[in-house]
Amino acid sequence: MKLFQTLSQRFLSLFFALILLASCSDEKDDFVPVYNVPEEYQPLIDAFIEEAFLRGLTITLENLIIKHDNELESAFCGTCNSNELKARFQKIIRFNPENQCWINPQQKEALVFHELGHCILGRLHINKKLPNGDAKSMMTPNDISVYSPCVYQLDGEVEDCNNVFKRDYYLDELFDATTPIPEWSK
Ligand SMILES: [Zn+2]
Repeated sequence: MKLFQTLSQRFLSLFFALILLASCSDEKDDFVPVYNVPEEYQPLIDAFIEEAFLRGLTITLENLIIKHDNELESAFCGTCNSNELKARFQKIIRFNPENQCWINPQQKEALVFHELGHCILGRLHINKKLPNGDAKSMMTPNDISVYSPCVYQLDGEVEDCNNVFKRDYYLDELFDATTPIPEWSK
């Protein structure tokens, strides 16, 4: 009798374990990624996919919500809720509509690509510098001007504030962190 009880208990535990497993996998199967990107940001998403493709990466984006969030701390221009490559997790990027975060298209692109770097590529922040003192990566925190044109330029001033030519390197590095440092940084 005792043996029978033990066996039936074991059977019951196994039974419940199976139910638990089944409910876990049911939960996973319930995940349906949402894609909801405001029109304003869609051209930048297309550009991100295109730039990735030019570098040999095929990205299909079905899991991304972009929204404005007045609740974001004023110090932040944008955040992504994940920097891991978890497949079954809704990725959400929030931008701060109150902040005048960008003043040219390059800064806006750098901000959006930086957040996509977290959310879609699973990249973390990098604080390293290039030999000339520039950020090594556009995954540097708090700088959306790494390949920006001059922000304030006086007439006749030499264009050494124009960093647009650095864009190729920063995008190479975004999609491949092992990209060698560029000539212009030596
Ligand atoms: Zn960041």
